[in-house]
Amino acid sequence: MPPAPPIRGRFAPTPSGPLHFGSLVAALASYLDVRARNGEWLLRIDDLDQNREVTGAREAILEDLAALGFHWDGPVYAQHDRGQRYREAVDELLAKRLAFPCACTRKDIQEQSDPGEPVAIYPGTCRNGLPSGKEARSIRLHVPDQVIGFEDEWVGPTHQDMAREVGDFVIWRVEGIASYHLATVLDDADAGITRIVRGADLLDSTPRQILLQRLLGLPTPAYAHFPVVHAEDGRKLGKQTDAPRIDTSQPAKILSMALAFLHQSPPVTLASAPVEDVWQWAFRNWAPQAIKSPLP
Ligand SMILES: [Zn+2]
Repeated sequence: MPPAPPIRGRFAPTPSGPLHFGSLVAALASYLDVRARNGEWLLRIDDLDQNREVTGAREAILEDLAALGFHWDGPVYAQHDRGQRYREAVDELLAKRLAFPCACTRKDIQEQSDPGEPVAIYPGTCRNGLPSGKEARSIRLHVPDQVIGFEDEWVGPTHQDMAREVGDFVIWRVEGIASYHLATVLDDADAGITRIVRGADLLDSTPRQILLQRLLGLPTPAYAHFPVVHAEDGRKLGKQTDAPRIDTSQPAKILSMALAFLHQSPPVTLASAPVEDVWQWAFRNWAPQAIKSPLP
């Protein structure tokens, strides 16, 4: 194995739908971020929840990225065969008493938590052992009374009061599925990812992921979150809103739109230029400071 290069980013689409405009922006932002630093760009399929996978979606995503001129380093990798790795991390946290089995249903938690809170914070019911006669439904992280802060390169300083705003969160479900947070932290660490560029909808997930990195002794990558793409009705443009598959028949046009969304001000003529010209322009003019705008 050659020594790991210092800069490595990734794009991790979920195969629950096609590549839509929001995911294209995510791919482009992380791509330009690492390529501008001569770094590597890895492609991971986040297929943790197999029930949500749409047949043909992963092939379509790869096809669309290739059609637009993205080049990824190494083979495309997936999460579904990493269950053993995830479970080992859960066992490590359980052995260190940093996690505990929980029998509570969503309804139990709702009933036991402070009704004045906007989100039901886990009240700690099973922290010191399962109530008698109850079986574990999940494994939760024992979240310390701690504020986790980090410097987001585009958003700025970000903090979260873990005990009050998050509470003990689920890292494993008894059906044998790791939580998104645990899986993504382990995947990023094992792949040597040093830079994570993604939409601001994941900003408040980041302190949870940093906490997991610290508890598992993993390095924390640099983070940069960009404003989220919204549909015309103001909802987040994503799978939940059935965002349409991007049209790759005019690659220069769709890439120019994504560049404009990232405040890169591409010249209007670029939309009808050969796609190679768009990439050349994008690499030469990449200005991440332009993205540092207030969150929507
Ligand atoms: Zn519980």
